[in-house]
Amino acid sequence: MSARRKAAGAPPPAEYAFAFEHPPVSGNAINGLGETRRRRAREVFHGSGARPLEWEALQSYFGMMVPLRLLLLWMSIRWTARNSNGPVAKRRREFASPAEAAAHVKDVARMFGAEQAGIGPVTEDCVYDTFTITLPHAIVVAVAHDPRDMRGSPDRASGIGTMRTYKKTGRAAVDLARYIRGMGWHAAAYGQSAEVLHIPLAINAGIGQLGKHGSLISKEIGTSFRLAAVFTDLPLAYDGKVDIGVEDLCATCLRCSTDCPAGAIANAKQTVRGTEKWYVDFDKCVPYFVKTYGCGYCLEVCPWADGGRAGWLSERLLAKRR
Ligand code: SF4
Ligand code: SF4
Repeated sequence: MSARRKAAGAPPPAEYAFAFEHPPVSGNAINGLGETRRRRAREVFHGSGARPLEWEALQSYFGMMVPLRLLLLWMSIRWTARNSNGPVAKRRREFASPAEAAAHVKDVARMFGAEQAGIGPVTEDCVYDTFTITLPHAIVVAVAHDPRDMRGSPDRASGIGTMRTYKKTGRAAVDLARYIRGMGWHAAAYGQSAEVLHIPLAINAGIGQLGKHGSLISKEIGTSFRLAAVFTDLPLAYDGKVDIGVEDLCATCLRCSTDCPAGAIANAKQTVRGTEKWYVDFDKCVPYFVKTYGCGYCLEVCPWADGGRAGWLSERLLAKRR
């Protein structure tokens, strides 16, 4: 256990009993932990409203207990999201090639506040089972947290910083979708609590790789960032998945699994809906996350946390492999 963890004292217990008269179905079971057959994911918590959630009570608890400032930010995110989709301009702008269109939309995404943008396909594993895929391409945008907000995580300031970053990311996606519709192509934005899974979308779009802590690691902006996506029918060249050396370091590093206050991070990959991958114990992590308004210990202690150093770390790891 790190000195920082010791200083923070004993974490609150990770059970979900505080929000439930009767414990709900395990989030791990809903997520398909241990299932060898491939299937789409089901929403558990922070859902889109497409159907009632097994963990609805915890979500309600979160809404009731959250500080006012956080609640206002959350309402503002919902307000922005009302423009996620809309009318498409009649006159269509054509590009010389999907590569030219991709370069253009990524430039525009950066202009709207994205710090990183990538493009990939919308595959079945990227959307929940209530969602119908109609737009085949995804532009994924990422915005990094302000490191000053996250310094004391998990605390109120980091919770507010997280929400502020969600807001910026959602805004970039909404503005980008509106811009693409203005060019005569269909486009819809998906920010927080949408019926899409941002991590597999971002992996497809080459934003980064999944780490042992269940979050994405980017060579450009490290580990501490938020994601949103725009689905579109504008033909776009894909970036492709990346290998930045994450697997090499996670194979031996124990930082996040040792420091997670809820003991939610395992040191071996697990089978989830037919795929072997890093998986964080949902029943331990999410209640703790709610209780602390957004725990981020695992992101903070990760050697990839510093976005400015992540590129250097990736080069070192890949050189060592060679
Ligand atoms: S957010 Fe990370 S450190 Fe916090 S409880 Fe979840 S897995 Fe553990
Ligand atoms: S802290 Fe270590 S094991 Fe955990 S994700 Fe980061 S590199 Fe991987």
